[in-house]
Amino acid sequence: MTEFINSIHNKPLRAIAEKVVQDIPVSEADALYMLTTNDILELGLISHYLRIRLHKNIGFYGVNMNLNYTNICELRCPLCAFSRDEKDEDAYLLSHDETEAKVKEAVSFGIDEVHIVGGLHPQLKIEYFEEMLRRIKQIKPDIFIVGFTAVEYDYFAKINNIPLEEVFRRLMDAGVGALPGGGAEIFSHKVRKVIAPKKISGKRWLEVMRTAHSLGLKTNATLLHNHIEDTEDIVDHLSKIRSLQDETRGFKSFVPLTYHDANTDIRAKRASTTGYGDIRLYAASRIFLHNVPHLKALWMYVGEKMAQTLLRFGVDDIGATYHYEKVVHSAGAPTPDYGSESHLRRLIEHAQLKPVRTTANYDLLAGCAA
Ligand code: SF4
Repeated sequence: MTEFINSIHNKPLRAIAEKVVQDIPVSEADALYMLTTNDILELGLISHYLRIRLHKNIGFYGVNMNLNYTNICELRCPLCAFSRDEKDEDAYLLSHDETEAKVKEAVSFGIDEVHIVGGLHPQLKIEYFEEMLRRIKQIKPDIFIVGFTAVEYDYFAKINNIPLEEVFRRLMDAGVGALPGGGAEIFSHKVRKVIAPKKISGKRWLEVMRTAHSLGLKTNATLLHNHIEDTEDIVDHLSKIRSLQDETRGFKSFVPLTYHDANTDIRAKRASTTGYGDIRLYAASRIFLHNVPHLKALWMYVGEKMAQTLLRFGVDDIGATYHYEKVVHSAGAPTPDYGSESHLRRLIEHAQLKPVRTTANYDLLAGCAA
């Protein structure tokens, strides 16, 4: 332990390392420092120390498919390249038969999980989602379903005129096992009103997650970054997630999402993120969010080489195969829309870690060391 502390020479980082060793949550000022330091190697030592303490030599990945059931969305957020108006030529809504065909095909490739998100479609009632989930479960009863963002649940409650708890109960009953963390974007009101003015507030997003957690659902939490936010907005976002986690312990994983601005109404006027920027963000998140067990670097967003590198900077999960992903690819992500399982395993192995295939609930599947 002393040896670890002594290996940190940068004074503010050494003070942070001392807190980490003693399990003392680091402060917002510490987060701000970590998000701006150029001393990424010593920052990396601290985040890696924590990552090893939490997950030993394991690197997680998943084998899944994405199901984006419709791109028709009432909100048409400026940040979004995926959504369409109903009358648009390339607007779509999957019928249950189309959903079934896609899931059957992906199941034949051996997926463990379906990740479902879509637009806010004004005509879709809750029965559509119940039927969709039941049909998916019929294809493969043990398939894990990560379904719908907090924004969608809030919308389902409103357009069906039923309490949020009832929406959760009905969709859990039909097969939802966990929630993705989308829709959090960034909680800062001043930023949110520019990038997603009609979307639920950050406060409401947290309330919906609190409700999900109270019903026993585990969820992810995301952060959309590299658009018009500043570093203080990121610290505020992390801080609100940490506070809710202190209360509920319902977040399984924190997932930063790099903003891609192609085909959106928010041209970020920012160049793409840099290696230093990505490393600072992931390492600082690992250290600040000490109470959130997993940190995910989606290879599709940061690129596979950076996702692999981040496994040495606090990350324990590089995401999944994601057959059929549409949301980030509509916004110009240059990665392919799926990675093969063997490639993801190779990335993890080449980082000197043991690949473990898992689902969003971190139920360990093949190759488990635990
Ligand atoms: S980000 Fe989500 S809520 Fe906003 S327009 Fe796109 S699909 Fe709709």
